[in-house]
Amino acid sequence: MQKIRDNLSQLRQKIQQLLQKYQRDPAAVVLLAVSKTQSVAAIETAVLQGQYRFGENYLQEALPKIQALKAYQLQWHFIGRIQSNKIKDIAENFAWVQSVYQLKHAQRLSQQRPAGLLPLNVTVQINIDREPQKAGIMPEDALNFAQEVVKLPNLRLRGLMGLPAAHPDFMAQQQSFKALQAVYQRLKEQGLPLDTLSMGMSDDMEAAIAQGTTLLRIGTAIFGQRDP
Ligand SMILES: *Cc1c(COP(=O)(O)O)cnc(C)c1O
Repeated sequence: MQKIRDNLSQLRQKIQQLLQKYQRDPAAVVLLAVSKTQSVAAIETAVLQGQYRFGENYLQEALPKIQALKAYQLQWHFIGRIQSNKIKDIAENFAWVQSVYQLKHAQRLSQQRPAGLLPLNVTVQINIDREPQKAGIMPEDALNFAQEVVKLPNLRLRGLMGLPAAHPDFMAQQQSFKALQAVYQRLKEQGLPLDTLSMGMSDDMEAAIAQGTTLLRIGTAIFGQRDP
């Protein structure tokens, strides 16, 4: 658990250094700790270091953790593949869903969002490198899709989430993120009130910061390598 504390404080320093390096506002980026496969105790260690936002990919795994940590009033983001039969639980238990790329999922998330809660924050998942095996909206379809999602009453469309191809080199990473940034700017120019560009993970964080990310999704660099 000491390792998690050290990782988190080093990561925060690194993010601040990179924001400075790329001449960005020190408050321009928020950190989402991706806690899939991590124990309640590991998450709690991060919470006690001031970490507030957590991302989970699998509903069954997430629900008991959300329940166990309820007293901390954390902000939970669903970042995994949405299954139709899990939508009600997702709409009831998360503050954000980042992996929206089917209109019927968006519609049902809106329908199932409980009346007593704030609107569910969503980002549209973009298949930025057009990989056939990867889910997400193609860049050229992003505007039409976002214009449908923004109409849904119990959702609040916040922006885009990108899962680029795993590029080993910094230049290629930057190119993917630059393309996503361009889609994001185009949607904003069309009048969509977006404030969130979710891009960058442990291995491509610098490229994402250089290209304007506002939300980093980081697992390994906080919690260490996940068990397969
Ligand atoms: C697992 C995961 C991450 C975190 O990846 P790391 O390389 O461990 O930082 C980020 N985003 C999504 C969608 C993920 O599934």
